[in-house]
Amino acid sequence: MKSIRYRISISWIFIFLILGFYQNACAPSVRTNSSAEATPHPGKPAPKKNVILLIGDGMGLTQISAAMFRNQNRLNLERCPYIGIHKPASADDLITDSAAGATAFSTGHKTKNGYVGMDAFGRAHETILERAQRLGFSTGLIATSTLQHATPAAFAAHQPDRDSYEAIAMDMSRSGCNLMIGGGKKYFDRRKTDDLVLSDSLEAKGYFVTDYFENEFSSYRLPQVDKLVYFTADGDPLPASKGRDYLTRATKVGAEFLHRIRGSKGFFLMVEGSQIDWAGHANETDYLIAEMLDFDQAIGAALDFAQKDGNTLVVITADHETGGMAINPGSRSDSLVVSYSTLKHTGSLIPVFAFGPGASSFAGIYENTQIYFKIKNFLLDNQ
Ligand SMILES: [Zn+2]
Repeated sequence: MKSIRYRISISWIFIFLILGFYQNACAPSVRTNSSAEATPHPGKPAPKKNVILLIGDGMGLTQISAAMFRNQNRLNLERCPYIGIHKPASADDLITDSAAGATAFSTGHKTKNGYVGMDAFGRAHETILERAQRLGFSTGLIATSTLQHATPAAFAAHQPDRDSYEAIAMDMSRSGCNLMIGGGKKYFDRRKTDDLVLSDSLEAKGYFVTDYFENEFSSYRLPQVDKLVYFTADGDPLPASKGRDYLTRATKVGAEFLHRIRGSKGFFLMVEGSQIDWAGHANETDYLIAEMLDFDQAIGAALDFAQKDGNTLVVITADHETGGMAINPGSRSDSLVVSYSTLKHTGSLIPVFAFGPGASSFAGIYENTQIYFKIKNFLLDNQ
């Protein structure tokens, strides 16, 4: 009797084992491409994770609509499967400026208009770029304004006045940021507040420093170094309609440059289409649409990189809308009737577009500060 019971229980164990094997072998595959969810192979290093954040300064839904109509009803932005909306107000004004708007993205703190990389009490906070740098990621900033302009400044500087370009240049030269492409060479090299030549200090820190005068960007092959600054202009770069054409290529080769850096865990790259805002302030529709289409080409380059890489999150948004732009009755796609309500920024909600692993967390309506937390959550938490 005892041995029969023993034999029965052995048989049950055997049946369970067979069933377990069968279930595992026949379970439907639920693997995803998301590196966040994939189990890393033992012994193999985890794949590099990257974020490209593209900010169209002053880009509201009407600016996007106008560019889309002018471009046969298509934009690269449409490749993003997840869309959200952020609330752009700053700490002291319903209508934000670019300094407070970019600081919300870079630090997760609402701040006063004019502050970069600081909260409303004037306290400096480590930015997402600085945190990524500290944790072993490579980092980059690309803009079609000067590098010291409010949006790029908010990621690598801490100043209570966005117009302190020379102090901002000093902060940026100390940031450790691997790649900087934009205008503003004069604030590094021909300074009024001191006699320092920051290009020399950058070179002493291991940077390769060059500019539009030495190397034409469209044919420039980025050297195989870990730190590079390329100045696209002495002051402000030209508008796209007057021949500025580096943003798309800078986004493509910039992502590749950061991806290649040996030993990094991945990268954080911010790309700004800076002059959409300037065109909005000028209420100039042709200028605006040219800047929007240039920015959309850069978005296409970022999405191409992310699509090929599989571990890159791309987020596209704006800090605020500029101009109170409207597309009026009587418009046709090839001849828009446009009006503006102001030469300043407006307070309307701002769209957010996301692509790649982690993109679904950008759906919904949230404060602009949440952009910081969502990016940090994908890229830097568990580091
Ligand atoms: Zn503006």
